[in-house]
Amino acid sequence: MSKSHYQAPRGTRDILPSEAGTWRWVLNSFADLAKRFGYGQVISPMFEDAGVFLRLGENTEVVSKEMFTFQDKDPKTPQDLALRPELTASICRAFAQHRPITPWKVWYEGPQFRYEKPQAGRFRQFVQVGAEIIGENDPASDVEIISLAWRFYETIGLKHISLLLNSLGDVETRELYNQELLSYLSKNAKGLSEESRDTLAKNPLRVLDSKRKEDLQIIAGAPTIQEFLTDDDKEHFESVRDGLKLLGIPFTVSPRLVRGLDYYTRTTFEFIADKLETAQNAVGGGGRYDGLVEELGGPPTQGIGFALGVDRILLACEAEKLELKNEMPLDAFVVDLTGGSHASQITDELRANGLGADRCFGSRSIKAQMKVADRSGALYAIIVGDDELEKNEVTLRDLRGDGSQEHVPRSDLVKALTASIKERYPQ
Ligand code: AMP
Repeated sequence: MSKSHYQAPRGTRDILPSEAGTWRWVLNSFADLAKRFGYGQVISPMFEDAGVFLRLGENTEVVSKEMFTFQDKDPKTPQDLALRPELTASICRAFAQHRPITPWKVWYEGPQFRYEKPQAGRFRQFVQVGAEIIGENDPASDVEIISLAWRFYETIGLKHISLLLNSLGDVETRELYNQELLSYLSKNAKGLSEESRDTLAKNPLRVLDSKRKEDLQIIAGAPTIQEFLTDDDKEHFESVRDGLKLLGIPFTVSPRLVRGLDYYTRTTFEFIADKLETAQNAVGGGGRYDGLVEELGGPPTQGIGFALGVDRILLACEAEKLELKNEMPLDAFVVDLTGGSHASQITDELRANGLGADRCFGSRSIKAQMKVADRSGALYAIIVGDDELEKNEVTLRDLRGDGSQEHVPRSDLVKALTASIKERYPQ
């Protein structure tokens, strides 16, 4: 086979049909769950005024190094645009623009773009699902948001996920803590890695994210934000922890969890897939961002949300050896030995009745058609030959189970197939 001259750009990939059914199933599972939680979908543009993302903090790597930016072509409105690196900022921009009634509970799905160094589980285009509650400060909303993510992992069957939880306090708390941390890390700067010394000058909090060996010991001795929380912050955090316990959602308080983006206040959390390597084991995260809507031109408004990485969730499923569902497995493959017009009619009838059906084109031998039927993943083959035509029936062969077959009157096909699927392959 000759190789194509062109390849998908670095850090991107094609999801082919053999995998895409599973992707759809995962995305649909999230959509169904979010709807059951009372969230509505927002479909926002894939690019925004770059300023929207600059509000995430110019010292955030996602913004300073990883944004795909370009200029509007209209010379009258020269404007820097950027492909979205995440969706919380777009949702807050949409909130500030449309001013919907609060609490605004929304969910989203779609690709995000970051100019990262590609490696296992780290892409330049990757898919996130996420949810946000805007305009609500009740700790119960923190609990609900976290439980939506948690129940989603459960729905798809993941068992080895850990929830790490922290509180970053309010903006003032963070500022005080930042100063304390800066002074501690500056005193110990000699022992830090070169990268962390560089980060320290821009954003001391982010040094805590480092996983480099030489940094770990210094980080372990750093003051934690817990010592700086106000009474209100502490009360909020306690309510969140109590709420999670009430729902039976296990968590570990992780005092040094700061998360990548600058805008978080109070509750922050991360989901770790225990079966994946450290570099790619973050399968989701989020937090409260009580100042972001205002930064984007809206009224002072609280918010909390999360984003989960679908590419990595699928890697975690693989690592747990989960057998994932397909959004729509094929119910039947029609093997027509009489020329093809019966295959046309039968597939049309099955599809009209909500069943998944396929067939071969061209006239091929029974052996060749059965091979394609088998490869298609269909549950049943429906065979139409001269004998069947004469008796006005079809042969129904179970392809996934014991290979048994039965003859069914042509006019009963839909009923017989539906009943057989229900009995042998209940969902
Ligand atoms: P963040 O918006 O950085 O908090 O990321 C939320 C989640 O998106 C992470 O926990 C990952 O699962 C996923 N994610 C972030 N960046 C990437 C990437 N470059 N490639 C694949 N998944 C990513």
